[in-house]
Amino acid sequence: MSCIFCKIVNGEIPSNKVYEDDKIIAIHDLNPQAPVHVLVIPKEHIACADDINESNCEVIGHLFSKIPVIAKELNLDGYRIINNCKEVAGQTVMHLHFHILGGKPLGEKIV
Ligand code: AMP
Ligand code: ZN
Repeated sequence: MSCIFCKIVNGEIPSNKVYEDDKIIAIHDLNPQAPVHVLVIPKEHIACADDINESNCEVIGHLFSKIPVIAKELNLDGYRIINNCKEVAGQTVMHLHFHILGGKPLGEKIV
């Protein structure tokens, strides 16, 4: 499997971990776009948000239930959650992940 995030999950590539449990990890983004930029990633390989379905959505609920825990760990008072779905929307790593951005006022524009 050549997927970068699967390799991070398996420990084949190092990462700066913020949170980990049996279903998800959260790591600092290599190329941060805000003072705090963390990626929350399901351990299971799901390519993109468009591949979420009834049989794999439990992990997504779990992931979202941990975002406040991760945000608290990072001392974030508020934050933006972003998902890029497929190349046309700017997805560059084809393993589902949610960006958590914060640490400064972000403004209202997302594009
Ligand atoms: P996206 O463009 O939504 O697919 O986001 C992919 C993100 O992964 C980008 O913000 C990259 O900076 C980040 N990224 C790529 N490789 C790594 C890595 N090895 N460790 C941490 N973040 C990474
Ligand atoms: Zn993967």
